[in-house]
Amino acid sequence: MNVTEPTHVVAIFGGASAGSVAAELLAERGAQVVVFEQNPRPYGKIEDGLPRWHDKQRTMEYGKIDARLDRPGVHYVPLTKLGRDLDFDEVLGWGFSAVLLANGAWKDRELEAEGTEEALGKGLVYQNPFVYWFNHKLEQAYDGERFEVLPGSLCVGGGLASIDVIKIFQLELYQQALAARGIEVDTNTLEHEGIPAVCAAHGIEDPESLGVENCTLLYRRRVEDMPLASLPDSASEKQREKLPMVRRKILEKAQKKFLFQLVPQVVTQAVLMEDGHVTGLRVLRTELAGGRVNPVPGSEFVIPGRLVVSSIGSVPEPIPGIEMKGAYYRYKDWDTGEYAAAPGVFGLGNVVTGQGNIKASLDHGRFVAAHVAEAYLGLTEGERDLSEAGAKAAERGRAAGEAIAEFVGKEAKLEPEVASELLKRVEERQRAVGYDGDYKGWIARVTPADLG
Ligand SMILES: Cc1cc2nc3c(=O)[nH]c(=O)nc-3n(C[C@H](O)[C@H](O)[C@H](O)COP(=O)(O)OP(=O)(O)OC[C@H]3O[C@@H](n4cnc5c(N)ncnc54)[C@H](O)[C@@H]3O)c2cc1C
Repeated sequence: MNVTEPTHVVAIFGGASAGSVAAELLAERGAQVVVFEQNPRPYGKIEDGLPRWHDKQRTMEYGKIDARLDRPGVHYVPLTKLGRDLDFDEVLGWGFSAVLLANGAWKDRELEAEGTEEALGKGLVYQNPFVYWFNHKLEQAYDGERFEVLPGSLCVGGGLASIDVIKIFQLELYQQALAARGIEVDTNTLEHEGIPAVCAAHGIEDPESLGVENCTLLYRRRVEDMPLASLPDSASEKQREKLPMVRRKILEKAQKKFLFQLVPQVVTQAVLMEDGHVTGLRVLRTELAGGRVNPVPGSEFVIPGRLVVSSIGSVPEPIPGIEMKGAYYRYKDWDTGEYAAAPGVFGLGNVVTGQGNIKASLDHGRFVAAHVAEAYLGLTEGERDLSEAGAKAAERGRAAGEAIAEFVGKEAKLEPEVASELLKRVEERQRAVGYDGDYKGWIARVTPADLG
């Protein structure tokens, strides 16, 4: 593409919720925006992290992301991963007006316990690959890792994402148990209606009679502490008093609908194995003192389970050349996402807030209204409305985009020859991955036929 006027050219890595919002905003302000995405499709957590039973929301969000990326001034570059296909320092040398890191949080926090390294892949699994498998396993072309949910599987966690995991366990097991009785029920129906209601509709008054060994969620604090709902800073004293009860109610409703068990106040001490396969977890009871979780010495006991999914949070993947501070990239300012080690580089979305679920999408991950959590977990009657969560996240994405646009606006625009040269490099990369600039045509081509 040939540019005739001075312009800003901005690179964005990650084309999902956060990246696409920023791309649209910057393009509206006249910048040329290059969106590099590691996958063929740009839908990020919405496709690979939000369990597939949120079918209507997913389709709607895909449409929004498509509309933001398929517009003049936005150049989509699929199948291009920062740190694998492009080197971070090299990209900085290309001369972009700004570089935005919108690559999300895809690295599971490590489960700190004895034996985790050995157990990984032999019954111990992390949440991100597990949910990815669940979301894609029915596609004919799926050739990734496969997992089997076993009776009495365990999930270590406590947040909304861990409830997703334990729901997947239960839905898989009850779907199989019903199928064994000749009753075919699809996952979405089972999730929407709930296990007892589906059983009852098929004349099974007591789901226990199916003989399913229910799965267990392990949490290190009390039920009342579960981050299923939290308070805005402006909450009244009364709301604060009610919060523990609100959390307990959410959990009880979820247990009633999906029949899983919970063991609160335990931490994992060791992952146990026999004959090369996980057999359970050795845990310690905990005491809570002043907000701290203290394992109680000598209180250990074993919880058996042949599949353990650890769902204790997601952080950004390290990228060669990007400096880290702990689990995150090194930011000068966490509010604007300004990266400390090079000017003109910003993080936005989950890459700054961490986590990978709806919690992070609300008000910097601090405030999750109870009704939003219930809608997310499928505990409300009728249609579940997640638009509030999406709107807040998009609003935050736009605010971050505004701050970046302001930064870029203060910088000198690139001369037309310089901008044209940069965009020529981008076109070369697009050609190398087989993308011809027709966004809609590309998405149609890379969408598995069985996804429609
Ligand atoms: C119904 C609903 C609606 C929502 N709507 C919005 C919304 O409009 N706006 C919003 O901001 N949030 C929205 N959210 C929240 C959203 O799901 C997430 O919580 C959050 O916004 C994640 O978006 P992200 O783009 O930061 O990360 P992700 O969704 O994880 O996207 C990161 C992207 O970067 C790519 N990537 C990763 N590593 C690399 C690399 N090295 N190189 C290149 N690409 C890479 C990934 O493939 C992925 O596409 C919504 C949530 C729900 C439930």
